[in-house]
Amino acid sequence: MSNAGLLIIGSGPAGVAAAEAYRERRADHPVRIVTADTRPPYQRPPLSKDFLRGETDDAPMDITRPFETTLQTPVETIDVGRRLVTAGGMRYEYDALVLACGASPQPLPVPGGEKALLLRSFDDAKRLRDAATSAKTAVVIGAGFIGCEAAASLAIRGISVTLVAPEEMPQRKRLGEDAGVRLRRLVEATGARFAGDARVTSVGDGAVHLEDGTAIQADLVLAATGVKPNAALAEAAGITLQNGRIPVGPDMRTAVDGVWAAGDVAFAVNADAGRALAVEHWGDAMDQGEVAGSAAAGEDAKWSGVPGFWTTIGDTDVKYHAWGDGYGRSRLIERDGGFTVWYESDGATVGVLTCNADDDYETGEELITAGKPPPVDMSK
Ligand SMILES: Cc1cc2nc3c(=O)[nH]c(=O)nc-3n(C[C@H](O)[C@H](O)[C@H](O)COP(=O)(O)OP(=O)(O)OC[C@H]3O[C@@H](n4cnc5c(N)ncnc54)[C@H](O)[C@@H]3O)c2cc1C
Repeated sequence: MSNAGLLIIGSGPAGVAAAEAYRERRADHPVRIVTADTRPPYQRPPLSKDFLRGETDDAPMDITRPFETTLQTPVETIDVGRRLVTAGGMRYEYDALVLACGASPQPLPVPGGEKALLLRSFDDAKRLRDAATSAKTAVVIGAGFIGCEAAASLAIRGISVTLVAPEEMPQRKRLGEDAGVRLRRLVEATGARFAGDARVTSVGDGAVHLEDGTAIQADLVLAATGVKPNAALAEAAGITLQNGRIPVGPDMRTAVDGVWAAGDVAFAVNADAGRALAVEHWGDAMDQGEVAGSAAAGEDAKWSGVPGFWTTIGDTDVKYHAWGDGYGRSRLIERDGGFTVWYESDGATVGVLTCNADDDYETGEELITAGKPPPVDMSK
């Protein structure tokens, strides 16, 4: 091995965790992150929550071990044979490469769709918050967690907000009818309106236009319609993608020698699940990055544990643990001041969604890992 060390593409949680894990094990080897981002590593979760509400101006990541970071430098090519990356007119050699390029929101594919703001980076969040300071009306398109959070935060700022989505309830397809009803209530409790079963046909003339002819006035439009993994670089370097992501084993190793991938861009085998999962969560990106950095340094590391995340809609936390690749049956149980939705497939718990029910969240994680049934009668 030469002493070119570890090169990481991307400064999100997967990239930073990979850098720190490698640095911890190889104190004398170079570690460099090359990133398209304009700022030193920061946290994304606050961008649709506290930051958008104006309650914080900054959300830096805690860095505990030093590494080099080259900002504002999108990587252009990877030569996996020569172990060489080109970016911003420079060539970077590597012994080990971690692809941690994340995912990007796509412009809304309708006439005028480019007028809608997107939300992924700190710069996006700044643009959105600046627009929110003068907006009286807003439309958020897409009722995934980021759409729900952003609609709630804008409503809390006093803006008249409509959350528009093709589903009758937020995330009905992913989480089921009962969960959708609760998420809708949480969004509406912040003062935002929910317009379901609605298809956007264009954006323009200060409004969002729907298929049924309705025009919703909007000084500000945010498209929160999902993300696409940034996997094109890997594909151009000869890595065959699966579901648009980079397939990796539980040690985050790709099929190409010397190349690992982690985070939203990866389609990683989870050692407990025994299959590959597409996961877009902060904590799991960190876990996968740590595995990639450790494995690249020669350690026997594996990604395991049930993926999960917390979301905050208004001032209510909703927590979710799940393999995330579907379920057979679901059942909502009322809890004191909250609720739990259990998800089951073939007799095994595969997910749990909780609001003010932390004991269920913890039990759920254990049951999912063990493949045991939910603690409630699922036939009701
Ligand atoms: C507003 C918002 C709120 C969120 N809230 C939550 C939450 O509450 N809980 C939760 O679990 N998850 C949340 N998420 C999701 C979470 O942030 C992602 O799952 C996580 O950031 C993925 O990490 P990553 O390191 O894989 O990718 P990213 O964080 O997307 O980082 C990718 C990095 O790669 C860089 N990059 C891309 N292409 C190139 C290139 N060609 N060359 C160089 N650099 C490149 C990017 O600039 C970026 O630095 C939220 C996301 C957003 C946007």
